[in-house]
Amino acid sequence: MPDQKNNSWGEGELRELLCLMMIGSCIWILGTQLGFFTVLIDATRTHQLQDLLMLTLCMSLGVVVAAIRKSFKLRKAMQDRDGAEAHAEAVARHDAMTGLANRRLFRETLEARIRVATGLPRVAVMLIDLDRFKPVNDVHGHAAGDAVLCVIADRLRALAPPQSLVARLGGDEFALLLDDGSDPEVLARLAQGVIAALSQPIAWTQSRLEIGATIGIATATEESRTAEALLHAADVAMYQGKRDGRGTYRFFHLDMGQALKARARLEGELRIGIEKGEIEPFYQPVVSLPGRDLIGFEVLARWNHPRLGILTPADFIGLAEETGLIADLTWSLMRRACRDARLWPAHLQLAINISPLQLRDPHLPEHILGILTETGFAPERLEIEITETALVNDLEAARTALKSLQSFGVRIALDDFGTGYSSLYHLRELQFDKLKIDRSYVESMRLSSERAKLVDAIIALGSSLGLLTTAEGIESGTSVDWLAGQGCTYGQGYLFGRPMNKATTDGLLTQWSDDEGRIVIAPSLSETSELAERELVALAPPPALRQAAA
Ligand code: C2E
Ligand code: CA
Ligand code: CA
Repeated sequence: MPDQKNNSWGEGELRELLCLMMIGSCIWILGTQLGFFTVLIDATRTHQLQDLLMLTLCMSLGVVVAAIRKSFKLRKAMQDRDGAEAHAEAVARHDAMTGLANRRLFRETLEARIRVATGLPRVAVMLIDLDRFKPVNDVHGHAAGDAVLCVIADRLRALAPPQSLVARLGGDEFALLLDDGSDPEVLARLAQGVIAALSQPIAWTQSRLEIGATIGIATATEESRTAEALLHAADVAMYQGKRDGRGTYRFFHLDMGQALKARARLEGELRIGIEKGEIEPFYQPVVSLPGRDLIGFEVLARWNHPRLGILTPADFIGLAEETGLIADLTWSLMRRACRDARLWPAHLQLAINISPLQLRDPHLPEHILGILTETGFAPERLEIEITETALVNDLEAARTALKSLQSFGVRIALDDFGTGYSSLYHLRELQFDKLKIDRSYVESMRLSSERAKLVDAIIALGSSLGLLTTAEGIESGTSVDWLAGQGCTYGQGYLFGRPMNKATTDGLLTQWSDDEGRIVIAPSLSETSELAERELVALAPPPALRQAAA
């Protein structure tokens, strides 16, 4: 909006003009009354006063020119200001890096399109969240992250149908506003196209950066037809997509909203549950191979929920992470587990899982040490299990925290090895004590010789780096023999015991211990016959890979 003060008469200026006009009138009245003007009129006939008149005329001309100049200047200033304002407007509504619309413009456009619609608006909102973007920033730096965002913006621009609006809502979140969202099939095809395009690798210096996208789609319904409601619905659908395994798209439907309410309820209950000590440590045995001597337990959280019964981590660890409750949960669990384990034979160790998010806490080592001191549990008996995700997210933070813990004697295990995507990189960068081979490998090696070769290669890799290895998810006797044959140090799985509460663990410890203090988990009766036929061929000949590696 042009500035009103500069191009119209202000109140002061009007007052001044009126004053001047009144003074002029007074002079005129006085002049005529005193006969002054007759003298003047006579005088103009003289040569001098003709000059005076000319001078006055020239001066007036100067004033007129000055006024015109001023008006041009004013006009130019107004044009400049209009330009600057238009630029500021554009900046305020666009993302500086990608040039796409920002959240504000997206929202305003969405509101405008809903407003002009007669009946139910046909618009659709697609919320696009990048997968694996943060690791790109962390591992390759912010310049790489920025380059990726610009490439993504270009790809979205290229795919966006006419009349649609592409926006970057913030961070790695983009959105498409579609004018006509009436055909779900068209929307689904577009979402698939977007996912496929955004999953194409992006070249960056010597690397190929691989990211992906998860999409939530919402169309207007009688219940949700405001911009706010549509954005929220698309967000809920997108999170559902993330939970279902990323790289996918989901349409919002009402059940999701209800699930969200149930989740909010569970969150409140979790907060109280942690305070009340409803989260209990369960203990799963870990044995040495091939002798099956018990070497310790992994602590696995169980929620003794007053309304829903015993819940497993899949039901609440993610929730605890999202709501910032994970630290309280972990410390309460660790405190209880250390107290329980202090009473067990001193050679038994305790492994506890730390959420990837907790590695960002610079006080993590202090917290752990505080609990060890408080409970009187020796640091050498404690092992911290972390997953590769944690490392990819912030390698520097992880390195500092892990080094500090190791300096106190706490050991570090890399959990779920093989499920991340930069395992070798981490093995080279960080000093682990142990590798835990993910259950998915151990499970499938019974069925595929290729998988068996992979497990063998992981064990060989671990031993070449001087690391201990634990195979997770062992369910059958044959796997034990084969794994022990390949040099795997430890085993864990239902074959040796499921996660058990303290009372059961205490009972079994007494039952398993022999007179010399050895605790050996004997093969169960069912074990010999169990799965015998299902066990495959794949495990029989030790893969030639080990020789090749040697
Ligand atoms: P994880 O650390 O890989 O733990 C092993 C999981 O595999 C446990 O599931 C265990 O019950 C299961 N498991 C063990 N042996 C077998 C087997 O032979 N067959 C099969 N099918 N499954 C087996 P659980 O207790 O449901 O825990 C799942 C995941 O939740 C854990 O995976 C861990 O990542 C996480 N988790 C558990 N407790 C905690 C905790 O206190 N804090 C954090 N941050 N995460 C936890
Ligand atoms: Ca674990
Ligand atoms: Ca694991």
